[in-house]
Parts: sequence; structure tokens; C-alpha cells
Amino acid sequence: MKTERIVFKNNEDLVRPARLLAEGGVVAFPTETVYGLGADALNPEAVADIFRAKGRPADNPLIVHVADKESIRPLVAEITPLAECLIRAFMPGPITLVMKKSERIPDICSAGLRTVGIRIPVNPIARALISMAGVPVAAPSANESGSPSPTRAEHVIRDMDGKIPFVIDGGPCEVGLESTVVDVTGDEPVILRPGAVTEEMISNICADQGFLFGDLRSETTLVGEGTPRAPGMKYRHYAPRVPVRVVFPESGGYSDSFRGEIRSRLPAGEHERIGLFCGQGVQEELESTLSREQAERLVFYVYGADGDIEAAARNLFAGLRSLDKSGVGVILAAGFEVGKIATAYMNRLEKAASADTRPAGDRPLAERRTVLFVCTGNTCRSPMAEAIFNDSVERRGPFFDSTDQRILVTPQARSAGISTVSGHPASDYAEDAVRELIGADLSGHRSRMISDRVLAESRLVLAVSDYHAARIRAEFPETEGRVFSINEYAEKTGAIFPGSIRFKMTDGVPDPFCSGADEYLEIAGMLRSVIEVFFPYILMDLGISGSHNGT
Ligand code: AMP
Ligand code: MG
Repeated sequence: MKTERIVFKNNEDLVRPARLLAEGGVVAFPTETVYGLGADALNPEAVADIFRAKGRPADNPLIVHVADKESIRPLVAEITPLAECLIRAFMPGPITLVMKKSERIPDICSAGLRTVGIRIPVNPIARALISMAGVPVAAPSANESGSPSPTRAEHVIRDMDGKIPFVIDGGPCEVGLESTVVDVTGDEPVILRPGAVTEEMISNICADQGFLFGDLRSETTLVGEGTPRAPGMKYRHYAPRVPVRVVFPESGGYSDSFRGEIRSRLPAGEHERIGLFCGQGVQEELESTLSREQAERLVFYVYGADGDIEAAARNLFAGLRSLDKSGVGVILAAGFEVGKIATAYMNRLEKAASADTRPAGDRPLAERRTVLFVCTGNTCRSPMAEAIFNDSVERRGPFFDSTDQRILVTPQARSAGISTVSGHPASDYAEDAVRELIGADLSGHRSRMISDRVLAESRLVLAVSDYHAARIRAEFPETEGRVFSINEYAEKTGAIFPGSIRFKMTDGVPDPFCSGADEYLEIAGMLRSVIEVFFPYILMDLGISGSHNGT
């Protein structure tokens, strides 16, 4: 099945997905919190398909989304005065209320619980879709179970491509963190998961309206063995594959603490790059105060202006995903102590960070083996190739040393330019092209001049043209035998490009510099075909064997 991405323009675009929902299909759609993976909540088979697509454990319940307050009543056993109060105060909005369920909610949806979580999204696309479908829509986050929740359509496609028929693209989510989950089955509200509707907001309303409001945090822990009070809490959540460390500002502000962390890490992992999730000011300060060598090993994902917690929350999942994909060895992320959504933000960040708390030295890290792509300025062709190769790696694997199958190895691409100034981002068109083609994010890319060092760290060097390859061999004679142009490599391996691009490759991969978006996309597509064909040979040259299956 090919997943179709529907870029939302008006409600006409929702007709097909709404009909599919009504007929028992699964559709991914935007909400203000994160993207949801929806199906008819009253149809057990449709709900089962959600669990299957996500790989979600059966004891983790789904939230049921409705378009308006009137639709809540048939789904619940009763609406208590407390529930009524919070519905009036916060719905529609980024809040889920857990209430006793009615008979209509199938067990699979509530994971066997006698309660159901109900939410009315504020996002107009989500609400229009649900009312057009005419059914309550069960929807967890539209990610693969365990990975960070999706906050953009690209994230959904990355996790769900081929598994569902439609993704409705409504742009980035405004809040970026999942809803606040509040249990209102008792006489005080119990916050099971923090979100954009904060503890303070809830306690204020309760005080106003004469409801009790006690100590919340203790309740977020698990209850007994079986199905927990706050299901989902026991699962590994939001976790990128690389370790995440939280960095709090010290007296010298964020920059000082980030710099300290970076300096203590750089010598340890000689080739390791460090991912940073931080504010704009921190990036500027670090780039101007660290040495060039040090700065070159950093990959930034800037969430916005320093200290803007709402922006940090909105971008957290996108940042974790992007840095994870960029091949860094560790992610350092800004921690927040104050600010409205800080509790929810830290809840997600700490979960990401606790996935593996062992110090870097104790962790079995797969050895990385590098193929280096080289072009002129390292802002278009070679960064696109790098992203495309790394994307293929992510879709395949695991990979092993070809002489010892017990050793786990990760192939990785890097890129450099033969004539460039280090530190420039990829060109906008290149960024757009790989986003469109494979959903990859080049925003953290910084150009790098080719050097003895980066060559020494690469087992194989692939240059975009014969000219580039010859220049590298002339300037760095010790690389002899490891440097090829794309065409030389095809000749050496006997690889054959698809006919559609063969005649365009006579001088290597054409330089799209100074041309438009379409040309960049064409070049990106060409690079993808080339890399597809070369992939097994590159692995061989890196001394790697692995499963070549899966796309
Ligand atoms: P997701 O939609 O992926 O964010 O997951 C939904 C989460 O909402 C679950 O993991 C629970 O933490 C919470 N939730 C949903 N339904 C219930 C319920 N009936 N009781 C308690 N928590 C719930
Ligand atoms: Mg989720």
C-alpha cells in the first residue's frame, strides 16, 4: 500500500479520508498536540488495525476523539460535576478526560479498562474530519510505538509509510506535546500525564468552582502489576536511538553549561558528533567561542529564541528525531525549570533521557564506518547524498562486520567540499528537495572543507565528478585506492544505473547551483537512484554485511 499525503487546503480534501474512517479504515491526521492515527472507536477491527500499524502493546489504551461536547455523552457512563466543570473550562483543547466508559466503547479501545479517555481537539482539520466521518475516532499518536511522537506529516510518513492509506498534512502542530490526561472518575482530578493544560490551570478552575484538588504527582506512578492507572507510563516513550542528556542553565546561562558538557565529551568519542537542542543565542555563542575543530563536530537543532519554552516544547520531538537521524553520538538538550509548559516538556525530555542512563563509555556502541560524499561547496549535492545514504541505512539493517558476524557495525555517510568555507547551512532548495523526497531534515547541516582528518576517518570516498575525484587524489595522495568518482565507482563495481538517468550522468552528478527547486529535486532523485544501486557495493567496501531487505 502506498501512503498518500493529502496536503490540506479545504474540507473537500477530507471527504475521502472521512469516508474511509466511517468504513473502518485508518487515517493519520493533525491535531494541535501531535499527529494522530485514527480509526472508528466503535469498530473493534478498525481499532485493532491501529495497534498493528503502531506496534502498540495491547494494554495501552487509546484516546477517543470527538468533534463536540454533545458527542461525549453516549460514550461514557456518566458525566460527573467535576468532569462537567473541566469540559466547560478546557474543551475543545489539549486535554483528555478519563471517565467511566459506556458499553459502546469496545474493550480493545480502552485496553480492558472500565474507563475511556475523551478529547475534543481544537484543530479545525481534526474536528472537521471527525464530524464528517460521523464516528468517534480512537487515535493514539501516529508514530511507531516507542519513538518520539510525530509533530509534522513527514514524521508520520517516516514511521507509517506503506502501513496506512492517508496522511492529512496540516503543517506543524502548534503545541507539539501530547494532551494533558486527567482522571475525573473520583472527586478530585488526577493528572496522569502533564501537557499544555497545566496543573496550575486545573487547580485554579477547581478552586474557583469549589472542587477538591490534592497532590497529583504521586498518582502518576504505576499501580500494581497489571494494567496501570496511567497506562503508557511504563513503556519506553519518546526515545531516540542515541542517548539524550539534559543541560540546565548555570550561573553563566545555557551557553556555559552547554560548553562545559561539550568540552568534557569531545575528547572521549574521537569521531563522535554531538547534537544540540538549544536556543539561537546558544548556537551563536558556541560557534564564536569554540575552536573550529570543535564547532565542526556539533550538529545544532535550534528551537527558537533562547528560553522560549513554548517553542522548545513545539519543536522537541522534531528536534529529537532530526538529531537522531543526523548520526550524532549523543544529544544534549536544554532543560527548563520554569514556564507554563515546562512540566510537560521535562516529562517528555526526561523519558527520552532515561532510555539509557549508562555513561557513554559503558554503552555497547555499534562501530561506525564512513563513506564520504564529496562535491564542491558541501551545501547541495554531497549533503543530499549524505542524507539519502543515511536514510537508506535507517530503513535497512542491522549490519555486521563482514568477517565477524557477531560485531554490530553501523554504516554512515558524511560529506565534505573541495572548495568551501566551513559552517554554512545546506542550500534551501537542497533542504526542500530531501525533505520532499525522503522526509529528511538537512537544517542541522554545516558545510565542511575536505581535510586529512575527515579523509582518514572514511573508508570510501565518492566524489560527484571525475574532476573532484582527481583533485582529491592529487592533493591527498595517501587516499589512493579509496577515492572514486560516481562514474569510476560504477565502472569498478559493474553497477548499472537506471536508463532514465544514465545519459544525464556522463559528467557525473550535475551541479544544480543557481537553478530552481525542480532541478534540485531532480538531482536528489538522481542521487537516490545512484545510492540505491551502489548501496550493496558501498557496504562491501566498508567491510559490512547485513540484511538488504526492507525499504
Ligand atoms: P497516546 O495517544 O499515544 O499519547 O497514548 C494515550 C495515552 O493516554 C495512554 O498511554 C494513557 O497514558 C492515556 N490514556 C488513554 N486512555 C486512558 C484511560 N482510560 N485511563 C488512563 N489513561 C488513559
Ligand atoms: Mg503516543
